[in-house]
Amino acid sequence: DTLVNQIKAGEVVERPAAVVKELVENALDAGATRIEVEAEQGGLGLLRIRDNGHGIARDELLLALQRHATSKILSLEDLEGVCSLGFRGEALPSILSVSRLSLTSRRVDEDHAWRVHGDGDVMVQTPEPAALAGGTVVEVRDLFYNTPARRKFLKSDGTEFRHVDQALRRLALARREVAFSWSHNGKRVLDLRPLDVLGNGEERVREVCGPDFIANALHVDEERVGLRLHGWLGLPAFSRSQPDLQYLYVNGRAVRDRLLAGALRRAFADVMHSTRYPAFVLYLDIDPRGVDVNVHPQKTEVRFRDAARVHEMLFGVVHRALRDVRP
Ligand code: ADP
Ligand code: MG
Repeated sequence: DTLVNQIKAGEVVERPAAVVKELVENALDAGATRIEVEAEQGGLGLLRIRDNGHGIARDELLLALQRHATSKILSLEDLEGVCSLGFRGEALPSILSVSRLSLTSRRVDEDHAWRVHGDGDVMVQTPEPAALAGGTVVEVRDLFYNTPARRKFLKSDGTEFRHVDQALRRLALARREVAFSWSHNGKRVLDLRPLDVLGNGEERVREVCGPDFIANALHVDEERVGLRLHGWLGLPAFSRSQPDLQYLYVNGRAVRDRLLAGALRRAFADVMHSTRYPAFVLYLDIDPRGVDVNVHPQKTEVRFRDAARVHEMLFGVVHRALRDVRP
């Protein structure tokens, strides 16, 4: 039902950056090791996401565009143990309902690729043969063409692309073993080569956050029972000039958690007598049983079973690291 889809779409896709996040997460779920994103006009004219993942079988293409047809949550245990990024089966149908979308995919066992496409909720009913070496290409054109009210809320192409770029940087920092590249209006923005997961990922951080960040950051890496925190903390002089450089991952998933952010800010303020928010790229790894993933479409909030312990560790590590360099 078109209206229901468009309303649901408002929760999942509020702007081009949200589309990019959902589609890149699908590519990652499909085991892609190379993901390319092309955007035109801030992503409103075109978003094309190409991956080398396992692809979608011909008979599953139409299902992938149908609401809840693919939800992977079968029970409460599934919900608790959820580890893949997509688990709602809502992104593709939601995006389709507010754009002109085409989905082309080829599994390794097929002779050629298959393609389905649609405008809003009007879909072709049979997959058509298509050409593609492997993996999946999703093309989203004319985003929000049929929902003028939403389109009015969007900013300039430049601003929308900045959000797209920010979303991609966030994803690229989460998965250094995956090659990412993206462009805007035909101009290459970043081209990131895949890194060894066993390394500390410094090269990815340098490319995504800039060499100045690494040169002006403290590397931290500490472990407690069931907890590990590693990453980079920008020194105050640098942090002051970087209001947006804040990347926090819990078990590889980007989160924006007010309590964790508060612990970081307090540690920073306490040592530096600065109310400035620090720049940071931090990875917190914790036993999955100790953390709840919020099922909100944006999926950026987390709940810890033992929040006090997590905050204490975060505060402690950051506090100690900064205290040692206090001017
Ligand atoms: P969800 O990711 O929540 O399952 P989506 O609407 O995002 O729902 O995607 C629907 C389904 O389509 C996925 O479950 C997956 O099976 C398939 N799919 C989507 N994108 C890709 C992709 N890039 N590669 C392989 N399969 C995909
Ligand atoms: Mg998904």
